[in-house]
Amino acid sequence: MSIKTIILLGAPGAGKGTIAEGIRSASRFLHVSTGDMLREAVKCGTPVGRQAEAFMKRGELVPDAVILGIVEERLDKGGADDAYMFDGFPRTMDQARLLDEILGGRKAVVNKVFLLDAPRALLIARLTGRRVCRKCGQSYHVINIPPKVAGACDLCGGELYQRADDSEATILNRLDVYTKQTETLIAFYEKKGVLVRVDSARPRQETVAEILRGAGALAAS
Ligand code: AMP
Repeated sequence: MSIKTIILLGAPGAGKGTIAEGIRSASRFLHVSTGDMLREAVKCGTPVGRQAEAFMKRGELVPDAVILGIVEERLDKGGADDAYMFDGFPRTMDQARLLDEILGGRKAVVNKVFLLDAPRALLIARLTGRRVCRKCGQSYHVINIPPKVAGACDLCGGELYQRADDSEATILNRLDVYTKQTETLIAFYEKKGVLVRVDSARPRQETVAEILRGAGALAAS
């Protein structure tokens, strides 16, 4: 059976992480999030983490060689998984080509790219209010998804913190980097006929449901 692949594309704050989590728990896609893997590497102080940290703090893209390494490693660990969901990768045309090569080696292609659309003001509000559990990585929002006890994770009691790259100045830079780098990527997938635009300004469950319907045949086959 050939491997099925979907990509979640969207600006920082479009909800890629929480939407991916909703899809993962309702399907059997292997969730490959470069942002999560990099944050874990920084937390653990691995060589990859040390290489990536400064770029991430400034809201810049981590070099492709580092990204390629962690993606390959993740897919190798995935073993028998036959459905991939990429989140936060690819971000540039160069990375899209790298992904095609990686998938080609595994007899797979990109089947669908879901572009999560939300207005810029909403993206900024979501990012500045985001808080993350230091222990388990669960995401909250000070207004939209507040924890039951302020500053503490509902799931594990861990301390909630604001990501260093969720400060307002870095957010604006990340949004600009995203727009500049991703425009051509969107056009590339549109031309291939695999791009699906999804409104992600709605409640998360609605966006998840729409993507699951769109990926239905892929997720279940
Ligand atoms: P994210 O959680 O996807 O917003 O990623 C957080 C940060 O990790 C980004 O601002 C980049 O510095 C870095 N990063 C994540 N994915 C990639 C990627 N595919 N290419 C380069 N840098 C990345």
